Amino acid sequence: MTDTEHLVALAEQHLYPNYRQPPLVMARGKGSILWDTEGRRYIDLYAGIAVSAIGHAHPKLVEALSRQAALLMHQANYYLSEPNILLADDLCKRTRMGRAFFCNSGAEANEAMLKLARRHFFDRGEKQRFQVVAFDNSFHGRTLGALAATGQKKYSDGFGPTGGVTHVPFGDVAAVKQAMGPEVAAILVEPVQGEGGVLPAPDGFLPALRQLCDDSGALLLVDEVQTGMGRTGRFLAVEHSGVRPDALSMAKALGGGFPIGAMLCTEELAKALPPGSHGSTYGGNPLASAAALATLSVLDEEDLVQRSQKLGEDLAARLERIVERESHVVERRGMGLMQALVLEDAVDLPGLVARLREAGVLVTAAGGCAIRLTPALNIGHEELEEGLQLLEQVIGDIDR
Ligand SMILES: *Cc1c(COP(=O)(O)O)cnc(C)c1O
Repeated sequence: MTDTEHLVALAEQHLYPNYRQPPLVMARGKGSILWDTEGRRYIDLYAGIAVSAIGHAHPKLVEALSRQAALLMHQANYYLSEPNILLADDLCKRTRMGRAFFCNSGAEANEAMLKLARRHFFDRGEKQRFQVVAFDNSFHGRTLGALAATGQKKYSDGFGPTGGVTHVPFGDVAAVKQAMGPEVAAILVEPVQGEGGVLPAPDGFLPALRQLCDDSGALLLVDEVQTGMGRTGRFLAVEHSGVRPDALSMAKALGGGFPIGAMLCTEELAKALPPGSHGSTYGGNPLASAAALATLSVLDEEDLVQRSQKLGEDLAARLERIVERESHVVERRGMGLMQALVLEDAVDLPGLVARLREAGVLVTAAGGCAIRLTPALNIGHEELEEGLQLLEQVIGDIDR
């Protein structure tokens, strides 16, 4: 057996089979190129689901991680650490928020946000105010609280009751208005539904949610786990609408590939989670914080938020041409470097993603009907073009 076959056999034997992994083993990445253990090369247009925003093995990130690993990796929030303090300061300034809480994933960041909202009202004597309004087709993570907020049955089926969340159609202001009441603590929304198939909130929707929250005293919670860190052409996607949330969650690209999540909130909410009420052993540890600081400084040095916007426009135009040419492609949607091609229902989406991989380009499926492109924000023009040509070829071959 080759090493790869041996590894795949071991994986089949012992890895928990909750993912649908093809029999290939990724070995190495540089920028927007990945290589597997057989030496096959792939153009990476998914960046680990919008995580590796500065590409693989960025020298600044590798250096920051190495330096911090040798200095101090972890001490569990019993004491302060410099990288964590500097990260909180940086993120609060960028997002115009007052406070930052750190954890290790997007689901945990959303859990923190949901617990923040519930406990805020509990603290103010509104003990029955814990209901959350969230949206159909949304995705907020896999832990039970985040799962309760997720508006897609395929993620929650079989896991028994989860509660405290009312789901209404995304974009439907009247339905949200109807769902608001004295028991509603918060509205939770993705500015662009990512897993749901790259669906930007309709114009005016986020401002309308802000208004409904202001009218009822509820909090506006924005899930920027996928859309944050410049993905949509602004540091936060919510900036496109000018809306200021009461709290927001980040993760995915925050550590450039190193796990870290964050919940940011206004100063007014600083008392909602007093000492002892919430925490995370690894949360914001010096290593994860150093990774996020390095990733943020690369975003600045390489002007990647601006690049996401500009290159996103080029990418959108390029994808529109594919929509015109290919009869199986219904539409393009997305913002910045978070884009999708929506395919006809008849197209076998997993099969298409597999053929693209075999052709040497990696994308993800989203929403059951779309090919999602979330390349690194610093992907080279040549790599992007090479990937798009392969995409166009493979889509063009669907019938033949
Ligand atoms: C990926 C994602 C999450 C969950 O993040 P994990 O790190 O997988 O827990 C939550 N919300 C949105 C919008 C996401 O895209």
